[in-house]
Amino acid sequence: MTVKALKARNQQLLGTVLAVQANYYKVRLDREAQQKSPTETEPGVMQADSQTPVLLCTRRTRLKKIGQQIVVGDRVVVEEPDWTGTRGAIAQVLPRKNQLDRPAIANVDQILLLFAVADPPLEIYQLSRFLVKGESTGLNLLLSFNKSDLITEQQQAEINERISSWGYKPIFISVSKSINIDYLASFLPQRITVVAGPSGVGKSSLLNAFIPNLNLRVGKVSAKLGRGRHTTRHVELFELPKGGLLADTPGFNQPDLNCTPEELGNYFPEIRERLAVASCRFSNCLHRNEPGCAVQGNWERYQHYLQFLEEAIARQTQLHQQGDPEPTVKLKTSKQGQTQYEPKLETKKYRRPSRRTQLQELQQWYREDEE
Ligand code: GDP
Ligand code: ZN
Repeated sequence: MTVKALKARNQQLLGTVLAVQANYYKVRLDREAQQKSPTETEPGVMQADSQTPVLLCTRRTRLKKIGQQIVVGDRVVVEEPDWTGTRGAIAQVLPRKNQLDRPAIANVDQILLLFAVADPPLEIYQLSRFLVKGESTGLNLLLSFNKSDLITEQQQAEINERISSWGYKPIFISVSKSINIDYLASFLPQRITVVAGPSGVGKSSLLNAFIPNLNLRVGKVSAKLGRGRHTTRHVELFELPKGGLLADTPGFNQPDLNCTPEELGNYFPEIRERLAVASCRFSNCLHRNEPGCAVQGNWERYQHYLQFLEEAIARQTQLHQQGDPEPTVKLKTSKQGQTQYEPKLETKKYRRPSRRTQLQELQQWYREDEE
């Protein structure tokens, strides 16, 4: 092994891919890397920028040969940093915690769900849908309500009480009036957060509030990356002043739910709460008045649950018609001619959705962006 190779190995530089364009990767090195390396090599070079160094990297031929894909959010090993030219080469991609496609992004930690309390008016059903969708990813979920400047304290208290009864603690903010922005930001350091929510609620405004010099930094990047148009496929992680990375998603209004009827209950805190202290008689109970059901209908979103359940059942029925070998519901027709789905009574162990299902859910967030 050459001296150079040994040296590279000793000072293995780790970083996170912020953006990908053609065969170039914008990599933000970890803070530890910043502290020793620049001073060791070229003193003073990085001092103009208090941010961690960002290197424009190529990918080692070896990675190309083994077909190693590199996506935004990837943790990578960078070799041969050129601090003056802010260049480097990616030598290795560390294993991913998770990954979604179109646009590709890896290692997401949480979803920040942003809604507005007014303008556009808060649509309870739509919010519920987004929440269930968010829960289905298995990621940490933050809920924030923007435009709190447009409602009275009394109205805010009412919304807060309502959403708390669903099992969530919303953070009320106003980007325009700079209310609670720092508080919301305090949940973001050291994580990769994806912002989601309908259009018009203030996602872009929030991003700009979090990162005051965002445009400036974006401008700097564009000089090197030849930054393309802001298409839905283009995803970029932005570094927050206090650490943490944030990706924006274009707004979309009705996320598709695609869980199984059995999984659905898991995505309602109200149901989880009830099942934590009691059990339904049937392990595959769908909580629709089955005998011995521990989930009563005395909570606000129960109607949403039933509605989403219908959708899930319809979807599953369609799958069965395509030959799914293991149905969990059966169709019953009553004397009045009404049809109803009932859970089959064979016990099927209640299980958390698989990691794979969760990742598919996560990818779905992005698929819909393109529609
Ligand atoms: P996005 O579609 O979610 O990215 O939303 P934008 O950031 O484009 O904001 C949509 C509109 O809401 C813009 O006209 C913003 O000026 C406005 N807006 C954003 N935040 C606030 C807020 O806190 N209060 C009020 N009243 N308007 C806001
Ligand atoms: Zn039940």
